[in-house]
Amino acid sequence: MAKRILITGAAGFLGSHLCDRFIAEGYYVIAMDNYITGDPKNLEHLESNPNFEFVEHDITEYIDIKSDLDYILHFASPASPIDYLKIPIQTLKVGSLGTHNLLGLAKAKKARILIASTSEIYGDPLVHPQTEEYYGNVNTIGPRGVYDEAKRFQESMTMAYNRFHGLETRIVRIFNTYGPRMRLNDGRVIPAFMGQALRGEDLTVFGNGSQTRSFCYVTDQVDGIYRLLLSNYELPVNIGNPNEITISDFAEEIIKLTGTTQKVIYKDLPVNDPLQRQPNIDKAKSILGWEPKVNRAEGMEKTFAYFKSLTQEQLHKSEHKDFTNYNK
Ligand code: NAD
Ligand code: UDP
Repeated sequence: MAKRILITGAAGFLGSHLCDRFIAEGYYVIAMDNYITGDPKNLEHLESNPNFEFVEHDITEYIDIKSDLDYILHFASPASPIDYLKIPIQTLKVGSLGTHNLLGLAKAKKARILIASTSEIYGDPLVHPQTEEYYGNVNTIGPRGVYDEAKRFQESMTMAYNRFHGLETRIVRIFNTYGPRMRLNDGRVIPAFMGQALRGEDLTVFGNGSQTRSFCYVTDQVDGIYRLLLSNYELPVNIGNPNEITISDFAEEIIKLTGTTQKVIYKDLPVNDPLQRQPNIDKAKSILGWEPKVNRAEGMEKTFAYFKSLTQEQLHKSEHKDFTNYNK
């Protein structure tokens, strides 16, 4: 009998790649999403697979699954700064109420649950690179607080279920991950720069561009998550690529890669935008035997090929997703 796994946020970027991986590993996948930032197209190719089913549901409401479950991957949450700034209350609810529902479901089904945490729980970090032992530097009341604090609460709630109920839990702290199926208009730096290059617009660097990020290709991220789920390790593990770059150098790389003749223009740095970010991945290396395999040049080529394959209509539909139909 195939192992049964529930994946929330399945119509999103990471969720859809996780569905692909678990289907390829022989699992029966129940995918759940309310499409708030996801896209049905990301799962279209799995619709006719007999080991796959999709349930449209907002996980902040009670989750009713009749069948057995062996595993849960909880990935539902807006993830891009412009998404969570537009739907701040939904973001807080999915991280808190949604996580509580999923932990309750995992307990009822005696399933192992892995939750998607983030490097954002380190805030604007004063320790560099960030180790799992660092407690972070988050502004609770800043605009990004809605995401950061929801994820911090999510980690606390998960450890409480682990310690109080003996639930089998895993926590992955994901650092900036990229690849095909990111939404072109989600505002994150890679779709933003690539979309601008393809439309013949200037590339918008926020602040003076000296802030750093470290970008991980999606297949590496998915492999780290897969290994963590099947490991015996219950404390948080950073998964990311330690290769760090400033955003202004990164804009130059994208200009070279895309061959655009446009230039870089500078805009205000968003409030509390972290000035540096690089994962320490010693734990992932020693506990999971994991390290990234895809370098930035290779990953960017693949991602650019994906964005280039989009239609002119998709490319020019740059206005932000309309969230007005969602109850906050
Ligand atoms: P995404 O926006 O592409 O995917 C999130 C998915 O969750 C979407 O399909 C959305 O519709 C769904 N969702 C949101 N609220 C929901 C709700 N109430 N009920 C059901 N579904 C809901 O984002 P992503 O980049 O794929 O991120 C997935 C997860 O990974 C998130 O939890 C995010 O915090 C985490 N993460 C991602 C990154 C990254 O670099 N991509 C970094 C750190 C953490
Ligand atoms: N950024 C930028 N121009 C853009 C979009 C983002 O300079 O058009 C910067 C942003 O200010 C941040 C970095 O790129 O310093 C990464 O932003 P992203 O939204 O991708 O993710 P974050 O790591 O901030 O969550």
